[in-house]
Amino acid sequence: MAIFKTIHSLDDLFLHTLEDIYFAENTILKALPKMEKKASNPALKQGFETHLEETRGQVERLESIFKSLGKDPKGTECPAIEGIVKEAEELAGEISDAEVKDAALAAAAQAVEHYEISRYSTLIALAQRLGHEDFVRPLEATLAEEKATDAKLTKLSESTLLRKAA
Ligand code: FE
Ligand code: FE
Ligand code: FE
Repeated sequence: MAIFKTIHSLDDLFLHTLEDIYFAENTILKALPKMEKKASNPALKQGFETHLEETRGQVERLESIFKSLGKDPKGTECPAIEGIVKEAEELAGEISDAEVKDAALAAAAQAVEHYEISRYSTLIALAQRLGHEDFVRPLEATLAEEKATDAKLTKLSESTLLRKAA
C-alpha cells in the first residue's frame, strides 16, 4: 500500500498514526449524527450526542499536536474505520426492529471505540518513546474518553438494550 512508503522511522510512524486517527475522528464526526438518528433508546441517543461533542474536542487536541510538530493537520485514509462505519450502516439498514437495531448500533459503536483505543494507546507509547512528553497528557485525556464511552455502552447494553431485545 502506497501510504506506508514514506515511513522509515518511529517519528514517521507517529505522524502516520496521528494522520490515521485524525482521519478516523473526522469520519466518526460524520457517522455519529447518523447513528443518533437511527437509535431509538433515549440513553443511547444521548450517548451518541455526548460523544459527538467529545469527538469535536478530540479533533482539536489532534490539531494542536500537528501544530506543535510544525505540520498542517492532515488525515490519511484509514480503511479500518471506513470498514467499521460501513459495516454498521449496512447492518442497521437490515434491521427493522427498533430494539434489535439499538443493540446492533451499540455494538458497532463499541467496535469504533476499540479501534480508537488501540490507536491512542500506540500514540501514547510512541510519544513517550520519542520524548514528546507534552503530547502524552492530551492523548491520555482522549483515551480516557474513548474507554469511558466503551464502558458506558457495555453498561447500557447489559442493563437495558440486550435485556429488552431478548
Ligand atoms: Fe474519538
Ligand atoms: Fe487506520
Ligand atoms: Fe470515540
